[in-house]
Amino acid sequence: MPTILIIGKGPAGISAALYSARANVDTIVIGRDGGALNKASKIENYYGFAEPISGEHLLSQGIAQAVNAGAKIVDDEVLGISFDGKYNVSAKGGDYSADAVIIATGTSRTTPRIKGIRELEGRGVSYCATCDAFFFRGKDVAVMGNGEYAVHEALELQPVVGSVTIVTDGKPMEAATPDGINVIEDEIESLIGDEVLESIRFKNGVEKAFGGLFIALGVAGSTDLARKLGAYIEGNRIVVDENMATTLPGLYAAGDCTGGLLQIAKAVYEGAKAGTEAVKFIRGAKN
Ligand SMILES: Cc1cc2nc3c(=O)[nH]c(=O)nc-3n(C[C@H](O)[C@H](O)[C@H](O)COP(=O)(O)OP(=O)(O)OC[C@H]3O[C@@H](n4cnc5c(N)ncnc54)[C@H](O)[C@@H]3O)c2cc1C
Repeated sequence: MPTILIIGKGPAGISAALYSARANVDTIVIGRDGGALNKASKIENYYGFAEPISGEHLLSQGIAQAVNAGAKIVDDEVLGISFDGKYNVSAKGGDYSADAVIIATGTSRTTPRIKGIRELEGRGVSYCATCDAFFFRGKDVAVMGNGEYAVHEALELQPVVGSVTIVTDGKPMEAATPDGINVIEDEIESLIGDEVLESIRFKNGVEKAFGGLFIALGVAGSTDLARKLGAYIEGNRIVVDENMATTLPGLYAAGDCTGGLLQIAKAVYEGAKAGTEAVKFIRGAKN
């Protein structure tokens, strides 16, 4: 039976799940936490609630509704995604295969405020190991982060580059470090390089040469996931058409990650549209 996999359990992801589960399609939602809605203590502008409602309550009601419709909700964090005729999604707790994917991960990538990062983006600083590892073959590269996502990116790079060092920028390493990967926990002062990245200077005065730096802070954001597949991105948003379709067949995006009005009403509409269109896609492709 074809499967639609939705990444994110905020209003966009849950709305998508409602439409695909109610169309009798196997629907899996993987979500790490309550997203933006969990931070909204009082919502007064969403249709149908005369009295203010908390984001947490709205979220739990939506999840219950999707579960009743037959969606499976998995509490997990997605680390990577690839396509080989099917979408393969790797999460901390296991791997999944799907015929269509809806990215609904909210607003995306975290750029650290470190001198030199913006200037060296695309000139040694990258946000996607899967996309760019090849350009760094044989070089000593660093991955900035301290969690599972950083380790995932480091492991993607390891077979291609000369050496991989995870730089945590003063934070403790929160994931087990695989064999052969170095860790530097010192705080970073700046990136050095005129034309391309040459080295990282740490606040303790040490400067270490690196040919590349991959940013993998926190969790894989929406543009990180879309970029891994080669979907078109503009700034911090995934580009979609009026059907919420990305530039890749079977890959949709909805909610804050597509930019524009960052509101629940828009996330719910886009989720509904993405869910409906993903169902049409798998029916067209499989039946
Ligand atoms: C403080 C605050 C107050 C707000 N008040 C209002 C308001 O009054 N009215 C209004 O309309 N809007 C309000 N908003 C905006 C609203 O919350 C968002 O527009 C809406 O939640 C967007 O929905 P979404 O599903 O796109 O993203 P989100 O709600 O952010 O959900 C994203 C989901 O993706 C998951 N995710 C992300 N990365 C991964 C990964 N790698 N693996 C697995 N899961 C992942 C997250 O865990 C989460 O489940 C407010 C936002 C904030 C922060």
